[in-house]
Amino acid sequence: MIIRQVVNSIFRSCSYIVSRDQQSWLIDCGDVDQILPLIDGTLCGVMLTHAHFDHIYGLNTLLSLFPSMPVYTSKAGLDGLLDDKMNFSRYYGDPLVLEKPGNVRTVNDGTTIDLMNGIQAKAVFTPGHSPCCVTWIIGDAVFTGDSYIPGVKTVANIPHSDKHMAAQSESAIRQLAEHRAIYPGHAPAL
Ligand SMILES: [Zn+2]
Repeated sequence: MIIRQVVNSIFRSCSYIVSRDQQSWLIDCGDVDQILPLIDGTLCGVMLTHAHFDHIYGLNTLLSLFPSMPVYTSKAGLDGLLDDKMNFSRYYGDPLVLEKPGNVRTVNDGTTIDLMNGIQAKAVFTPGHSPCCVTWIIGDAVFTGDSYIPGVKTVANIPHSDKHMAAQSESAIRQLAEHRAIYPGHAPAL
C-alpha cells in the first residue's frame, strides 16, 4: 500500500491518495489538479474526515470527472455537504453544496469498507472539532483529519464544535495511533 500526500492550496489542508494494485482511494478532496496525477490506476472512491470547506472543496469537480464514484462520510457529514453555512464555504466567498448527494454513502461508527485486495478502511467517529468527524484506519495508517494534528491544539471553538468531545476524541486517537502512523488533516505552515 502506497500513501501519497497532497498539500492543498486552501489552508494547507491535506488530501491523501492510498493506492495498491492499480486501485486508489482518496481521503479528503482539495486541489483536484494536484490529486489527479497521483492516482494509480482506478480511483475507486473518496472518504471524508469531515465536511469542512477546506477538506471538500474539490468534490464537485472530482465527481464531474468520476460521476459514479462513491463518497463516504457520516450522516452529519452529509448534512455538512448539503449546507454551505455548516461547511463554512459561505464565509470564504465560494459557497459549496454537493451537487451529487446520491453518490454519498453514510457510514456508522465502526463501519468497515473493503478498499482493495485485503485492505479495509474502518470508520471511527471522532466528533468534537465538528460533529461529523471520522478518523479512518487503513492498515497501519490513521487518517485523523482535524480531530488530531500532532503538535497542534485541536480547534474546538468554532460553530458546531465541542471542546469536551474533542478532548475525548483526541485521547481515543492517541490510543489508536500507538502502533500506527498518523496522517493529519493539515500540513505544518511553512
Ligand atoms: Zn476542519
